[in-house]
Amino acid sequence: MSEPAGDIGLIGLAVMGQNLILNAADHGFTVVAYNRTVSKVDHFLANEAKGKSIIGAHSVEELCRNLKRPRRIILLVKAGDAVDAFIQQLLPFLEKGDIIIDGGNSHFPDSNRRYDELKEKGIYFVGSGVSGGEEGARYGPSLMPGGAEEAWPHIKDIFQSISAKSDGEPCCDWVGPAGSGHYVKMVHNGIEYGDMQLITEAYDIMKRIGGFTDKEIGEVFSQWNKGVLDSFLVEITRDILLYDDVDGTPLVEKILDSAGQKGTGKWTAINALDLGMPVTLIGEAVFARCLSSLKDERVRASKLLPGPQIPKDAVKERQQFVDDLEQALYASKIISYAQGFMLIREAGKTYGWKLNNPAIALMWRGGCIIRSVFLGEITKAYRENPELENLLFNKFFADAVEKAQSGWRKTIGLAVSYGIPTPAFSTALSFYDGYRSERLPANLLQAQRDYFGAHTFRVLPEAASENLPADQNIHINWTGKG
Ligand code: NAP
Repeated sequence: MSEPAGDIGLIGLAVMGQNLILNAADHGFTVVAYNRTVSKVDHFLANEAKGKSIIGAHSVEELCRNLKRPRRIILLVKAGDAVDAFIQQLLPFLEKGDIIIDGGNSHFPDSNRRYDELKEKGIYFVGSGVSGGEEGARYGPSLMPGGAEEAWPHIKDIFQSISAKSDGEPCCDWVGPAGSGHYVKMVHNGIEYGDMQLITEAYDIMKRIGGFTDKEIGEVFSQWNKGVLDSFLVEITRDILLYDDVDGTPLVEKILDSAGQKGTGKWTAINALDLGMPVTLIGEAVFARCLSSLKDERVRASKLLPGPQIPKDAVKERQQFVDDLEQALYASKIISYAQGFMLIREAGKTYGWKLNNPAIALMWRGGCIIRSVFLGEITKAYRENPELENLLFNKFFADAVEKAQSGWRKTIGLAVSYGIPTPAFSTALSFYDGYRSERLPANLLQAQRDYFGAHTFRVLPEAASENLPADQNIHINWTGKG
């Protein structure tokens, strides 16, 4: 019997799977393709896959039979039950040391469970974040693999070959154990929510306070894309604002202002609450989408609830206004990434994961939706100090925020005085001011908790005394005498 030819198997011939197969074939790998609806395998072979190093399989058994050992099988199917169903179907045809990689948008607790279940059977499970949409899958996605580290030497070459490159380095490296690859992808998506919300706030301010046309706003984004904000999301925003419908007016103004969501931003915000981390910007970005979706209610409220009038000449110095706004966007973005990395750091501690922090920023540097020049600086910061406590403790970012502060505060002040909502800009600044406050009013809060619930409090070491010892939880009868 001849040796099997397949370097890697891929199950799931929807848009992501097909594109990833074509990408791997272009890089010289022989891919065995399978799909639940088997007719799609034949259609793919006869069309997109024609003439390429792609073998069609018509059953899971045939897929496994055609793969070199250890078998490497990527699942790119709908997250949830479909992943478990395929794992169960594959198991009878696998041997110890074979590798199952879930490349879908699975929730990390599911990946933790699958990692444990498969480990017991001697099968290596890898949960890999894949970002960049269909274009990324076809020409170079950001790949974030984590799970059984024993699998990494067997998949490294394929993964790093097909991934995006940034300054010649692959946007793919080993993230860490268990479900950490999918965890990092989840935080990536949360940050994507934040970046998008910040950009929409800048657009709204230019439109409603500055009175800019969509073309003018598009030009501003075009300029910003040449500076510190150079990124995929700023670039596509420029294109969207410059895009006219057939009647010659901007198409974007015809779109219903009610945002959808698939849940990964919500997962990030919920996880941040679970871990007690103040990831406020992603939280606000999720809530902003929720508020936008109350369209009918907002239309009624707009007739009932007055706010300030915005005069036509609200902005006198346009260039200064645009420069301040750029600084507000930049500083808020730094805060959002600082919060995202705080969350990842805490997850590492809570879940006992040793995470590859410099590689995480590098993986997001290219290929994915949040790719930007700015992530190159974050990579640098974590390479200088992989255990960096907070991005804001890195000199480059501390200096950048300091320089941006005046424009950031002016922009938010202007928005507040004219009644334009800036949940993401504002929460970023509140976080910054809270984080840099040696003393916060939580002393009063602790007293309130003790007053009504006897929850006790601790005293500041320098304020300790015989009746208020520093090393004890203290309860006071607040209505009695001191
Ligand atoms: P998708 O629409 O999420 O899923 C379609 C694929 O899943 C098809 O192969 C389908 O098989 C299979 N499938 C669905 N339900 C199934 C079930 N109950 N049992 C077995 N197979 C089932 O496809 P996609 O957009 O290509 O995404 C694939 C994965 O990548 C998803 O987890 C997605 O969240 C993730 N992802 C997507 C993007 C993107 O831009 N689209 C980006 C990053 C990550 P049939 O053909 O038989 O229906």
